[in-house]
Amino acid sequence: MHAIFTDALAVLFDLDGTLVETHIDFGKLREATLQLIAQYGVDTTPLQSLDVLSAIDQAADVLQQSGALERSAELRTRARARLRAMEMAYCAAPRPVPGVYDLLNALKARDVRIGIITRNDRQVSLQTLQQLRIPHDLLVSRDDVHRVKPHPEHVTIALQEWNIPAERCVVVGDYWMDVEAGRAASCRTVGIWRQEVAVNPFRNHPPDLLVRELRELL
Ligand SMILES: [Mg+2]
Repeated sequence: MHAIFTDALAVLFDLDGTLVETHIDFGKLREATLQLIAQYGVDTTPLQSLDVLSAIDQAADVLQQSGALERSAELRTRARARLRAMEMAYCAAPRPVPGVYDLLNALKARDVRIGIITRNDRQVSLQTLQQLRIPHDLLVSRDDVHRVKPHPEHVTIALQEWNIPAERCVVVGDYWMDVEAGRAASCRTVGIWRQEVAVNPFRNHPPDLLVRELRELL
């Protein structure tokens, strides 16, 4: 077991790309979401650079500020439902990342709690976790927080639930938002720069430990 886990009472893992491969096409999710937003008459130009959840929030805020409260709520509901349906389809045949069971079982054998923190829909995440029998003690999905990663709320919910101090918790993920959420909550952080990703996703948010694959943590 890697030294980063010394004294750890809990480890929080991102799901997609960290523990499982689900082939979610984030470009298509964004495209479909922006199309829906455009149908509500909201200018999508300033939303192009945002991640999909932030784009939905911002578009709903624009409608709300213009007084269209019902349309704002309707857009939020429809966009989230469309996102869930697309994620469900992409996650139909998930695969475990190499080494995932060895690592999680080794942590369990040391009585380390395992949490899953994901920006995915709760139902889609549960389906993936059950399908692959990924051992875990807690799931904090986007439906369980007010603000998703990089906000630290996913992490603080888990720490409060377990009554564990942040310095005894490690956060592991394959995107800078995972590292930022962990860092903002004062946890140790591990970034996984996957082999197929050309540019270091952590270049502006360096983790305490950078690895190229999950197996290096064993
Ligand atoms: Mg990920």
